[in-house]
Amino acid sequence: MSADILHFINGQSRPSADGSTFGTSEPATGRPLATVALGGAADVDAAVSAAAAAGERDDWRRLPPAERARLLRNLADIVRGEAESIAVTEARDSGHPIEDARADVAICAEILEYYSTLPENIRGTTYAEQPGFLTTSRREPYGVVAAIAPWNFPFFFAVTKTGPALATGNTVVLKMAEQTPLTAVMFGELCHRAGFPPGVVNIVNGDAKTGAALVAHPGISKITFTGSTEVGTAIQRAGVNCHLELGGKTANIVTAHADLETAARASVHQAFFNAGQVCTAGSRLLLAEEIADEFLEMFLRATEDVVVGDPLNSATQMGSLVSHEHRDSVERAIATAVAEGASIAIGGRRLAQQPEGAFLEPTVLDGVTPAMAAAQQEIFGPVVSVLRYRDLDEAVRIANGTAYGLAATVWSTRLDEAIELTDRLEAGIVWTNAPFRDHAHVPYEGHKASGRGEEGGLETIREFTKLKVNYLAHRAQPSPWGTP
Ligand code: NAD
Repeated sequence: MSADILHFINGQSRPSADGSTFGTSEPATGRPLATVALGGAADVDAAVSAAAAAGERDDWRRLPPAERARLLRNLADIVRGEAESIAVTEARDSGHPIEDARADVAICAEILEYYSTLPENIRGTTYAEQPGFLTTSRREPYGVVAAIAPWNFPFFFAVTKTGPALATGNTVVLKMAEQTPLTAVMFGELCHRAGFPPGVVNIVNGDAKTGAALVAHPGISKITFTGSTEVGTAIQRAGVNCHLELGGKTANIVTAHADLETAARASVHQAFFNAGQVCTAGSRLLLAEEIADEFLEMFLRATEDVVVGDPLNSATQMGSLVSHEHRDSVERAIATAVAEGASIAIGGRRLAQQPEGAFLEPTVLDGVTPAMAAAQQEIFGPVVSVLRYRDLDEAVRIANGTAYGLAATVWSTRLDEAIELTDRLEAGIVWTNAPFRDHAHVPYEGHKASGRGEEGGLETIREFTKLKVNYLAHRAQPSPWGTP
């Protein structure tokens, strides 16, 4: 079957060199959505070659920083203009509720505007003067950046994997996840419309094999990857400079001094937003014993109120999971938890009224203990594991007792308690009394198995550029060995 969604290479849409394709479907209905070109080694090579050539051409290499900034602002405006079609495509391809998809696209435009401030902030240093020398450093782009993204926020990751690399003067080959390729291809075309020269942004569609071919390509100088710790760790072994944003198992700690009602409602959002398919989802609910029963009742009541259904309905708060295969894997994780001794306090079933869709009810597992798989492994679905703790020492022990260190949330109205927990938690982000804050100008970094390198803020410049030092002698310096 010929593809209706093609690769975007060197400013043009192209089928795969060998004609291979794969299908993408609408997870909420199970119906096929599009046939997509499946990238192989030849397509990856064409994209990397186009990116390398574009990086050498003066229309990109010598583009003044203010011009790069202007292109990024153009792109932000074009994204705003196409917001509705991007959001609808995203909702259909990923199962995202439409209102969340609209909000994501609006955030993406703001993020691109933030990236447009980076080109003119790339700075070097002048070092303490040595007689006869001027010693300086500058930051240079790596060259061709391989950007590999997951499926949970497709358009957002197309923007955030690509934007910083472009702001800092690199060229990019982006590979989105095979489950959700559609909005990334739109993104490539929007970059072209914004005025990015051909070959600066290239999109190759495909699966793990396509990603592996990209990682292995000798023309790649830098990899920026968001996805699972397992794949990120494998990529790291490839020996190329890597920026990795990986998995998480966020502890959401509710202390005895929390504002319980507010915490319960916000924790339900943190657990079930995007059907829990969020790296920082509050997937472990750690409750102080004194308030555990009272809080859990509030949490379960708020969970009952979550509106699950058709992603294209504006009232929907939780859509379908990204695919039927992923829904099955989440169900297996629930079954394992029950076999290990946890109980289902609410949820755990498919949606009777949408039997064709990859839906699963918001699910709360009670009686989870720290050693269980449900407390250790990412389930990446609408499943929360409830654990109880006796004192702050135990809360910290449980919270830090996984391989991950991405994020943590603390609910407490007591400053001393909140500060102590923030000090002791092993996490790249700690949210106190307000989960899910995230701003483009504020960097973050996963600790432990959750990543390597900073994303966001001016720190992005360091991540996507390499240092070059120049010792400039005022005149030719004679050899210390003298002249025989
Ligand atoms: P994944 O690791 O399975 O896949 C991510 C991407 O890597 C996809 O494009 C996939 O095709 C590609 N890939 C797979 N195998 C590859 C290989 N061997 N070589 C090169 N590329 C390969 O992750 P996923 O299931 O798409 O996404 C969910 C994961 O992403 C979760 O673990 C989640 O926590 C993580 N995530 C992390 C963050 C963060 O900011 N830390 C954000 C979002 C998602």
